[in-house]
Amino acid sequence: LVVLDSVNKHFGELHVLQDINLTVHRGEVVVVIGPSGSGKSTLCRAINRLESIDDGSITLDGQALPEEGKALARLRADVGMVFQSFNLFAHKTILENVTLGPIKVKKMKTAKAKELAMSLLERVGVANQADKLPAQLSGGQQQRVAIARALAMQPKVILFDEPTSALDPEMVNEVLDVMVALAKDGMTMVVVTHEMGFARKAADRVVFMSDGQIVESADPDTFFDHPTSNRAKDFLGKIL
Ligand code: ATP
Ligand code: MG
Repeated sequence: LVVLDSVNKHFGELHVLQDINLTVHRGEVVVVIGPSGSGKSTLCRAINRLESIDDGSITLDGQALPEEGKALARLRADVGMVFQSFNLFAHKTILENVTLGPIKVKKMKTAKAKELAMSLLERVGVANQADKLPAQLSGGQQQRVAIARALAMQPKVILFDEPTSALDPEMVNEVLDVMVALAKDGMTMVVVTHEMGFARKAADRVVFMSDGQIVESADPDTFFDHPTSNRAKDFLGKIL
């Protein structure tokens, strides 16, 4: 579904993505882990064109990523993104946060968008908060709204960049549970996370990045029990 072929990206002198080859199949859950600064966020941002690449190619469903205009807006609708910092619209209600994309981008009728939004808020367990503002919700609730908002666009793939890192520990699981359920439902997901329990439970594949390179790519049991590179062994030694 998503294919990165020899992707390179520099920030000045820094070679932040080095010859990245990665294929994410439909329905697959790929967990990306690696030390701070290894290029995980840049990789995610490249996939929905928040970041340009220097060479190589990225395709979604066989189509090259559009550079700009309407085609780019459509791509953004197909590639959902959930950030560490929720990024909800602060002055809009929870319901409006979820209906806005479908109404503006997908030209959905308001009544239909509301119906869809309520069913998604139900699915992530925050339907009873629909008329509140984001600041009135806990971090875990806000992040679940952000997931509902991404789902409302009916994306082909959702990218999660450390979705639980900004949360108090007691709220991490309520968000991970929603993500596990999504994975089980067959959603295609790329998840940058340090939650190894989630990786074990939900990942079809773990990709380990270090210094802009994909150093290992394996199923979770193989990766966690038998990492092959010294860089992965070092990293796991520090976090497990
Ligand atoms: P973390 O775990 O801390 O989130 P990461 O693996 O997501 O790290 P990236 O955010 O992709 O890493 O950053 C990779 C490198 O690129 C870092 O050294 C970072 O400082 C640098 N970098 C990221 N964005 C920019 C930018 N817009 N301009 C210049 N350098 C950048
Ligand atoms: Mg990052």
